Parts: sequence; C-alpha cells; structure tokens
Amino acid sequence: LLQLYAPLNFLGFVYREIKHSLADMEKMFTLMGQNAEVTDIKNAQLLATTSAAIRFDQVDFSYEANRKILHAVSFDIPAGKTVAVVGSSGAGKSTLSRLLYRFYDVSQGSISINGVDLRQLNQVSLRAHIGIVPQDTVLFNDSIYYNIAYGQPGASRDEVIQAAKSAHIYDFILSLPEGFDTLVGERGLKLSGGEKQRVAIARTILKNPPILIFDEATSALDSRTEKAIQAELKEISANRTTLIVAHRLSTVADADEILVMEQGVIIERGRHRDLLDLGAHYAHMWQLQQGDEENK
Ligand code: ADP
Ligand code: MG
Repeated sequence: LLQLYAPLNFLGFVYREIKHSLADMEKMFTLMGQNAEVTDIKNAQLLATTSAAIRFDQVDFSYEANRKILHAVSFDIPAGKTVAVVGSSGAGKSTLSRLLYRFYDVSQGSISINGVDLRQLNQVSLRAHIGIVPQDTVLFNDSIYYNIAYGQPGASRDEVIQAAKSAHIYDFILSLPEGFDTLVGERGLKLSGGEKQRVAIARTILKNPPILIFDEATSALDSRTEKAIQAELKEISANRTTLIVAHRLSTVADADEILVMEQGVIIERGRHRDLLDLGAHYAHMWQLQQGDEENK
C-alpha cells in the first residue's frame, strides 16, 4: 500500500502545484522578463516522477532568426547526477537552463525527461519538478515570507524557517524591522544580489524538487557565505538531477560531468581530473582561478 501511496501522494503534490502555479505563472514570466511563448500541445502529458533522467540531443537554439546561439548541444544528466557547465560569458550557459525550464522550445533537436520530449509535457507539471536558482532572482512585491513559502504552497512556518536557515538568510530576516513580514521586491525593501540569491535558494530548498538548476546561484555571495551555502547546495543536490552553471570552478570540481562551452558549442567535456590532464581550455581556466583564490 505504501508503494502505491507514495506516487499518488506525489501526484497530489503536482496537482496542488499546478493549481497554485497557474495563478502565478504569468506573474513570474513577467517578473523574469521572459515571454510566455511556449504553448502546450493538446492533451499534453503530466510529468509525475521523483527520478528524472535528462537528455539534450543535438539541440540548436536561436532567440532571433539568423543568430544561432546553441549548436548541436548533446549531453545526458542521468537521474540523480550532476552536470556542470562552465565557459565565458555569452557562451550559452544560461540558455541551457532556460530551455530545460522550458521558457523557450528548442529550434532543432530535443530535450527529454525520462525519454519524453519536453514539448509533449504539460509545462506547469514540468516546472513543478524543477527548482531553479537563476542568475538574477526577481522577487515578488510581497513579504519575504511569501517569497520563500512560494516554493511550496502549504508549507508550515517551521518548514519556512528551516529553509531560511539552510540558505543562511534567517539571521538577516530577523534583523529586519518587520522580520518575515518585511515587504521586498521593487516596491519594498531592495535586497542585495546575494540576499536575493539566498531567498531563491531557501525557496528551492523548501520546494524540494527532483530536478535542480543553479545558474551561477552563488555568484553574488561573498566567498565565506558562498562556501557555507555551497555545502548546503551539495547536500540538497545529492540524489537529485542537477544542472549547475558555475563561474567559480572550485564549485564544480566534483560534478559527474563538466561541459566547457564556448559560443554555443561544447568544446571539452569530462570529469575535473580528466579535464586538468587534458591540459587545454578547462585546465587553463583552472590555473587562472587558482591565482584569484589566493588573492582573496
Ligand atoms: P551565458 O549564460 O553563457 O553568459 P547566455 O545563455 O545568457 O550566456 O546567452 C548566450 C547568448 O544569447 C548571448 O550572446 C546573449 O546575448 C544571447 N541572448 C540571451 N538572451 C537573449 C534574449 N532574450 N534575446 C536575444 N538574445 C539573447
Ligand atoms: Mg548566464
């Protein structure tokens, strides 16, 4: 009975999430400056899984005609594993995370989860499975409590507090005049980049999804906070299918696969050790950053 109950319970979670998300979806797209240009096919499938294997297969993508951003990008993230993407700014790293979240559909090739093309899936059910900490978090014009609890409608106050603690934002919240009730966002208290990232991390910890996307999720943090949160992120990404876009290479050294991207093409791939042994692009980037770390 338990075996039957677990997936049913999860389906219940997906449905609640869908109901909740429909209301906020427009708002979120507006907030994130993205067009809601993806439409579901008729009778789109509901995704309902706790174990997601992701495949990018020969993906091409352009935001605008005549300017291809991704060129035949292929990689797998087996269920529960972590793939990291590194490379220069503008290489197309964030584009990969936006495509996986299905802000856009691919131009050629496909992205699939457990063998099902994202275009066959109901997009709200897809997003219910993904926790994303984007490069630039935009907060709702609402209380800081709402902004965290949004990760899981129906979460208890204790769970929200626990998530805030794990994301190292709890003490900061307590220091605010109105604590959790403080209004944030464009019309409220303006948070720093690092504080917004920690709110997004708390929201994701609370959401507890099977798929995680961290897009330079700790880039705005000072290195001490980054180290502390990194440990936390490592813990929550264990056994979850994770795509990490990282600036600091020390944060991806233990990924199951590292992809080095330049101008929309994967130019190197492998584990940290292999890429260092290769002595090419990644090894060079690593060397450069070692110098930076020492100067900190
Ligand atoms: P990275 O995350 O590696 O820095 P991005 O994936 O954000 O790079 O961007 C890859 C390329 O796509 C860049 O040249 C960028 O200017 C372009 N780009 C990103 N978003 C858009 C958009 N919404 N419309 C048009 N071009 C875009
Ligand atoms: Mg980016």
